[in-house]
Amino acid sequence: MIPEKGRDKKDLLVEMQAMREGDANWQDARTWSMVYYAGEQHHDFLKQSHNLFFAENGLNPIAFKSLKRMEAEVVRMTASMLHGDEKTVGTMTSGGTESVLLAVKAARDRARRHKPWIRRPEMVVPRTIHVAFGKAAHYFGVKARYVDVGPDQRADVGAMRKAIGRNTVLVAASAPQYPHGVVDPIEELGAVCELAKVPLHVDACFGGFALPWIERLGRPLPVWDFRVDGVTSISADVHKYGYAAKGASVVVYRDMSYLRHQFFVSTDWPGGIYASPSMPGTRPGGSIAAAWAAMNALGCDGYLRLMRTTLEAVDALKAGIAEIDGIEVVGEPQATVVAYQSTDATLDIYAVADRLEAKGWTVDRQQAPACIHLTVNAHNLPVVESYLADLAEAVTWCRSHPEASASGNAAMYGMMAKIPFRGLVKLSVGKIMEAMYSGDGEMPDLANLGAGEDDGLILQAIHKYGDQAMALLDRVQAGRSAIAARLGRGTR
Ligand SMILES: *Cc1c(COP(=O)(O)O)cnc(C)c1O
Repeated sequence: MIPEKGRDKKDLLVEMQAMREGDANWQDARTWSMVYYAGEQHHDFLKQSHNLFFAENGLNPIAFKSLKRMEAEVVRMTASMLHGDEKTVGTMTSGGTESVLLAVKAARDRARRHKPWIRRPEMVVPRTIHVAFGKAAHYFGVKARYVDVGPDQRADVGAMRKAIGRNTVLVAASAPQYPHGVVDPIEELGAVCELAKVPLHVDACFGGFALPWIERLGRPLPVWDFRVDGVTSISADVHKYGYAAKGASVVVYRDMSYLRHQFFVSTDWPGGIYASPSMPGTRPGGSIAAAWAAMNALGCDGYLRLMRTTLEAVDALKAGIAEIDGIEVVGEPQATVVAYQSTDATLDIYAVADRLEAKGWTVDRQQAPACIHLTVNAHNLPVVESYLADLAEAVTWCRSHPEASASGNAAMYGMMAKIPFRGLVKLSVGKIMEAMYSGDGEMPDLANLGAGEDDGLILQAIHKYGDQAMALLDRVQAGRSAIAARLGRGTR
């Protein structure tokens, strides 16, 4: 309930400070994601510029010309960084997800105009594409055709080409993809898309503000931006490696013939004629201003300096992981994201995750393959050594304690990742969401989901019979491998 009488502001600030205590500890760089930090000075400067436009609203570019100008300059600077030309256009958005949603929506609506026979629009994407494309499919009724990637986790160009059909309104790939930091073969996909006359979106939410500096630092990288003719749009997050405040991303298109289809105009609303370039109505001025400020304050030299340090951390992590028996880096990450997996059948990477968490690290677990994800920032460099030491200890410990994989979060993640009935998993995750967003909004106890009486039948069933189901699955899997071996084929 809203307090009947407003409370003392000082008390509230103290209370809020206290609430942060259980949060992921990004200040000590023990969190490998979610917070992009370019040092205290830059941080304070961001807050100042954000504050200047704290109250302003980007909804109406005529009322706030300052914001319109800053948005235009952020888009222009981004476009030129991505080797666009004077025709390149775009908008700022609230984040990578919105940029992706809009790129899909624009492609769908462009197809409605140019290929009106398409009833069931589809997009062709590698399985490693960011989940925001799944969200776009869900929201906009564009079917996502997921194409398996190669063993190196890169998009399989031949398979992508085969998946393009008469209903395809968009092909998308990543530079780099989120799960393993691997850059898809954009040049080859661009050629395929040009031939098939379908637009190609490059999701560079991570890479947009990273790869240009990596290239300038002299590392070999394939071309992936507007230099590839087939590329028609790119998403790049300023609130990631652009080191802006949160709520800032850019989606750019090769020319207006694509961007046009992103816009929304209503002429009949009693509230007046309404035109909107992107998804929100009200747009916070602070995030637009802070993005403009960040790019101008850092400049190419600032970004290069941050990237040099970041790559130092990435290289040290890769080398350190290679030295630990039982784990390996997934694929060949070329940017600032690294994932590692177990190479030892008796080593459960999720147990390693639990162990690292107990040592105070925030850990991102991934599935298919089961691995741990690291987003590396310049400010992580000082902790790389202690991370590697803890990781080595965790791996050794887990190898001598195989039972750890049956307890804690490891058991739950292991099961959730392996259960073949994805509908069941979806249902139970849906239940968790309902629990989190209902009543008092308490966080459910993940390790003991299903143990409670009001956890719902499905969760209870998974909790109760999960181990048996997994054992059964393992037997089926083993049976399949035996048969395949007898037939002389490899298994996947
Ligand atoms: C982060 C990311 C997104 C989504 O961006 P949000 O800002 O989290 O909405 C999409 N694609 C890739 C490759 C990303 O790294």
